[in-house]
Amino acid sequence: MPNAVAQVPLLDLKAQYAAIRNEIRPVLDEVCDSQMFILGQRVADFERSVAEYCGVDHAVGVSSGSDALILALMAADVGPGDEVITSTFTFFATAGAVARVGAKPILVDVDPETFNVRPDLIESAITQRTKAVIPVDLFGQLAELDRISAVAAAHRLVMIEDAAQSIGASRHGRKAGQFGGMCCFSFFPSKNLGGFGDGGMIVTDDADLAERCRVLRMHGETSRYHHRYIGGNFRLDALQAAILNVKLRHLDEWSQARRVNASRYDEWLAASDVITPTIADGNVSIFNQYTLRAPRRRDSLRNHLTSKGIGCGIYYPIPLHLQECFAYLGGRRGDCPVAEALADEVLSIPIYPELSLEQQRRVADAIREVCE
Ligand SMILES: *Cc1c(COP(=O)(O)O)cnc(C)c1O
Repeated sequence: MPNAVAQVPLLDLKAQYAAIRNEIRPVLDEVCDSQMFILGQRVADFERSVAEYCGVDHAVGVSSGSDALILALMAADVGPGDEVITSTFTFFATAGAVARVGAKPILVDVDPETFNVRPDLIESAITQRTKAVIPVDLFGQLAELDRISAVAAAHRLVMIEDAAQSIGASRHGRKAGQFGGMCCFSFFPSKNLGGFGDGGMIVTDDADLAERCRVLRMHGETSRYHHRYIGGNFRLDALQAAILNVKLRHLDEWSQARRVNASRYDEWLAASDVITPTIADGNVSIFNQYTLRAPRRRDSLRNHLTSKGIGCGIYYPIPLHLQECFAYLGGRRGDCPVAEALADEVLSIPIYPELSLEQQRRVADAIREVCE
């Protein structure tokens, strides 16, 4: 392909694969030769690696990040009649999982700087029916999990952390998964640790909850053909586990490269009138996304970048309280003003580790052409 008008994609997974191809191919062959595809040693090894990486006792590999959330809710016995408080400004699966287990999502607003759910709004949404809270660590930055876990503990609620975008991120030295309850990861290909297909994990320090997750992911089977619970098929593939175990070794260097890219954008865009992301004090982000705010000119900025062959994305264009499928919850425009404003202003730009200096300059220049 002629690269006269070289594109800058939003994410370049081919570049990442090229760099680790020689490490990945042999483990693919090993799994293929073994013809053992479901759970088994490969998954157990990867679970151990993730538990160690996160500094927690237990890890349970599952079929996706969405299924991790559903399984965690099932393990916490959340169901019809229960309310679960979470962010309105997140990927659909966070609230979708709550509805899927028959409980009612209670969607609250976020902080305008970090885009993360506000602990005070969680607290004021608690009722007699509240059973759990799901803080979301959006775009690679942990929510105020110290405060949220304290609120959860004070009200005897289960905390299920949605860290699908934030594996390895930390807050005052504590990583995702170390704030109690259960923590869910996604290995969707575009996440910082992405598989070659779907995958997810639940990590926890609670041995009982971990065991329930293990049983529930195998149809609630406690011994062969004896079913204590009604679970489902929520298993992680051996092939994904083998690939992810190789990629995990690179995760910290990739996340560091993203942080370096982020600090370059921070500098290059400082004089423009886009608002660059804020990382809260004590937080170390893994920058799954680098998300700007461009009040009043987001769409013209997006069109300009697109016309220059620069990938960008809107995460998320519609807050969940305004989604059609959640109309029955009675959400109205004006309920969550910060999330509603963000939906009109945010734009995520390329931040992936393999982004070259030259590509990054082109992105920043293109933004300044519109926003200076
Ligand atoms: C990606 C994502 C999920 C879902 O993960 P899948 O593996 O795609 O099912 C859930 N929550 C958030 C915040 C996500 O970004």
